[in-house]
Amino acid sequence: MTRTSKTGKGARRGARRADRKRAAARRSVAGRRPASRGRKSRRKPLLAEPALVAVTARAAASLKSTLLEEPTIISDETRQAAEEIDLLLDEGEEQPADEEIDDDDDELFMKPAALSGPRTHARPAAGIVGRRKQPGRAGASPRAGAAGRAPAASPKSATRSPATGAEPVPGSEHLFPRNLKTVYPVAVKAEGIWITDSSGKKYLDGCGGAVVCSIGHGVREVAKVMSAQAERLAFAHSSQFITRETMELTSRIAALAPGDMKKTGRVYLVSGGSEAIETAVKLARQYHVDSGSPGKHKIIARWQSYHGSTMGALALTGNVARRALYGPLFAAQPHIAPCYCYRCPFGLKYPSCDIACIEELEATIHQEGPETVAAFIAEPIVGATLGAVPAVDGYWKRAREICTRHNVLLIADEVMTGVGRTGRNFAIDHHGVVPDIIVAAKGLSGGYAPLGAVIARGFIADALRDGHGYFEHGFTYSAQPLAAAVGNAVLKYLDDHKLIRRAARIGKILGEKLGKLRRHRIVGEVRGAGMMWGVELVRDRKTREPFPPGLKLNRKLFEACLGEGLLIYPGSGTREGRDGDHFIIAPPFTITITELDDLLARLDRALTRVEESLR
Ligand code: PLP
Repeated sequence: MTRTSKTGKGARRGARRADRKRAAARRSVAGRRPASRGRKSRRKPLLAEPALVAVTARAAASLKSTLLEEPTIISDETRQAAEEIDLLLDEGEEQPADEEIDDDDDELFMKPAALSGPRTHARPAAGIVGRRKQPGRAGASPRAGAAGRAPAASPKSATRSPATGAEPVPGSEHLFPRNLKTVYPVAVKAEGIWITDSSGKKYLDGCGGAVVCSIGHGVREVAKVMSAQAERLAFAHSSQFITRETMELTSRIAALAPGDMKKTGRVYLVSGGSEAIETAVKLARQYHVDSGSPGKHKIIARWQSYHGSTMGALALTGNVARRALYGPLFAAQPHIAPCYCYRCPFGLKYPSCDIACIEELEATIHQEGPETVAAFIAEPIVGATLGAVPAVDGYWKRAREICTRHNVLLIADEVMTGVGRTGRNFAIDHHGVVPDIIVAAKGLSGGYAPLGAVIARGFIADALRDGHGYFEHGFTYSAQPLAAAVGNAVLKYLDDHKLIRRAARIGKILGEKLGKLRRHRIVGEVRGAGMMWGVELVRDRKTREPFPPGLKLNRKLFEACLGEGLLIYPGSGTREGRDGDHFIIAPPFTITITELDDLLARLDRALTRVEESLR
C-alpha cells in the first residue's frame, strides 16, 4: 500500500484543522457562539481514533496471518483497510468545527402529551423486546441498544400480540396501524442512525425504514428550513401559483438527472412514490395521445417488481401476494420476467444467456401490438420484492434500443434507488442510459417530508403543450412549497457533505462486509450497490431451495435483529412471489465505519441465533 501521497494530504488536513480551531476561537471571542458554556457536547472527535486503530490492527493481523499462503487475500484486506482509513479520515474532515448540539434542544422533536407524563409501557410487540427495564437482565438500560447488546428475544415475547394478551399502547385506540395484531413501539426521537422509542430503547436504523433515510435522522439544518418555510409559505395551490421553492427544487433535480434531462427535463412534484408512479403512467399515456398515437395505453412491467400501493401502481407491481387481494379492481397490464440471475426464469447463465429476459420485452411488444404499448417500466435495482437485485450490464442499453424502436417510453422507477442511494445520482447512471421518465421519491426528502418527483425529458412536456396544452392530472398537494423546501434542504445537505460520493465509497465497504456473512449457511446471495444491499436466505445453498413460507424466516430474522436493537427491511416471495426470504440493509449514507461494524456485529449475532433455532 502506498501512503506517500497521504503525507501531503495529511499535512494539509492538519493545517485546515488548525485553521478551523483558530476560526472557532475568533468566533468565540466575537461572542457569536461561546466555545464552551458547560453544555454537554455531542461533537465527535476530529478523528475516530479508536476505530482507526481497530481497523489498522485488523489489517495488520490479517497481513501477518496470511502472508505466506494467500497473496490475493492480502491485497483485498489491505485495499479494504485503506478505504476504511480514508473514510475515517474523511469523517474527521467533515465534522464542522462548531457543530455542537445541545442536549437541551429537544424542542425540535414534538412531544405528544400522552408521552410527556409518566412513561407508558405497552407490552412488547411481536418480537419487539427489551423495552421494559428488568432487574437482573443485561442490556435493559435505555442506552443498551446503542452501547451494548440488547436483550435477547424470548420465544414467548416473539409471538405475543393483542390476540394473545399484549395490550395496545394507551392513546392508540383510534390509530389504524399497518398490522392490527402488532403492538408497535412508540418512536419519539431520532438522531443520526438511531431511533429511540418511548421506553428509551434505541434502534440502529440499518434500513432507513423502507430505504428512505439518506442523510440520517434529526438533521437540524433541515428542521430549521422546515420551520422557517412553514411560517413563510406552507401552501399555495399549484393551479394558482408556482413558488420559489418548487423552482429551486426542480432545477436541483434536473441537474442530478442524466443526459439531456439536465437541460430539457421537466419535473412534476408530488407527495411520494405511488403518486409519482401514477403521474408517470398518466404522463406516458397523455404523451402518446398528444403526439398522435392515441392507441398506445399499455404499460409493460416486470414480475416480482414493486411500484406502489395505489391501483395504477399495483397493476404494474409484479409481486403476486401484493396484487392478489385487489386484482379484480385494477386493469391488468402485461408483465415480463425480471432480470434475476440467482434464479434465472429461463434457467440460463449470464453472459451466455444474451440477456434473454430483456428480449422478452420486444416479444411482448410484438404480441400486444406496438400500437397499443405506451411504456415499459422497471426498477434498475429491484428493491422491496426481490431484495436489491441489480440488472446485468447491457440490460438497460438493450431496453433503451427496444423502446426507441417501438416508440415506447422507457420509465426507470427510482423511487428507492434514486438520489444517491446506489452511489450515483440515479441507479440508471451505472448503465449509461437516459430513460424518458425517471420516478424518484424516498431519498429526495430523506424521510423529512412526503415528496416524490417525476422527471420527464423535454419532448414529453412539449407534446403536452402542443396537444391538450395541460396535463390532465394533479393532486391537491402537488408541488407543495413546504415539502419542496425540505427537498431543497436535503439535496443541499447531500451536496455540501458530498454524501453521494460517500454512499459509493462506504457502500463498497458495506457490500464487502456483508459478503462475509456467507459464513452463515442460510445466506444464499449478497447483492446490491452503494448503500442498498440485499441478502437472500436459503435452506440449501447448493440447490438454492428457499425455506417453506410457513416458517416466515424473514420475520424471524427481523425479530432477532430487533432483539439486537437493529432494524432491517425484511421481505418474502423472493422466488416467483410464492416463497423465499430476503432482507435489505440500507443505512443512512452518514453512517460511520464504527457504526457499520456495530450494525454488522448485531446482524451477525441475529443470524447466528436464527440458524441455531433452525437446528
Ligand atoms: N416504487 C418503488 C421501486 C418502491 O420501492 C416504492 C416503495 O417502496 C414505491 C414505488 C412506492 O412508493 P411509496 O411507498 O412512497 O408510495
